[in-house]
Amino acid sequence: MKITFLGTSHGITEKNAFCSSALVTAGDAQYLVDVGAPVDTLLANLDISLNDLRGIFITHPHQDHYVGLAQLTFTVEDFGRFDLASVPVLAPEGIDFASLNTFLWGDPRGHERYRVENPPKRRIRFQVYPDAAPEGSVIFDDGQLRVTAFPVRHIPHSHAFLLEAEGKRVVFTGDLLRDLSDYPRVATETPVDLVVTEAAHVRLDDPDTPMILGKSRTPALVISHRAPGRNPIEKVEALAAAIAPIKVIAAFDGMALEV
Ligand SMILES: [Zn+2]
Repeated sequence: MKITFLGTSHGITEKNAFCSSALVTAGDAQYLVDVGAPVDTLLANLDISLNDLRGIFITHPHQDHYVGLAQLTFTVEDFGRFDLASVPVLAPEGIDFASLNTFLWGDPRGHERYRVENPPKRRIRFQVYPDAAPEGSVIFDDGQLRVTAFPVRHIPHSHAFLLEAEGKRVVFTGDLLRDLSDYPRVATETPVDLVVTEAAHVRLDDPDTPMILGKSRTPALVISHRAPGRNPIEKVEALAAAIAPIKVIAAFDGMALEV
């Protein structure tokens, strides 16, 4: 499994840093976790066709994690080059996709091809997954990649994801509470190969932070979605020293990790 970080910023874009999005590659299949970045351009830069997207998974209904779906949807639906695309978007409750349709194409009743109630005609297929059970709910499994969602408490309908492919296990925590009291147990109670967590809300220099993150049963912890004012790179380095031997990696746009 390969993770390529397309966007690593927090709520707003920063210099050379788009909002949250990660490309997950398993075999020949491509998937996205969150779409806060202009992913159609970023994937083109990586020579990846949107026809090869097999699934998109949104952690929670905050705009900086899904706003890029607007441009992606327009591009994929409107251009023949993406005739072959067939992409389920697994999204939590709280995102108004009917309004996105109207925003892109006007009154959907006037556009037979784009009618919201006509999902089989669409290449991008929005599917709402219900709030996950505490022990986890599988929201996607295409035989190549399995995605299990776990509830976290950042805002209503917020989730962490466990991604399993090619014998590897990767946790994306999604956005969490400032005190990390909802840090997902799947990252501390079962061995995983990588954890990707956020630093937009948590304070990396809070005394409890290394205690909680240090319990992760992972060889490496990626800090993404980082607010540079609140959590400058020095605080990431201090965390790394505190929770060694777990390797702490500060994500940047374009960073790729082979898991
Ligand atoms: Zn959020």
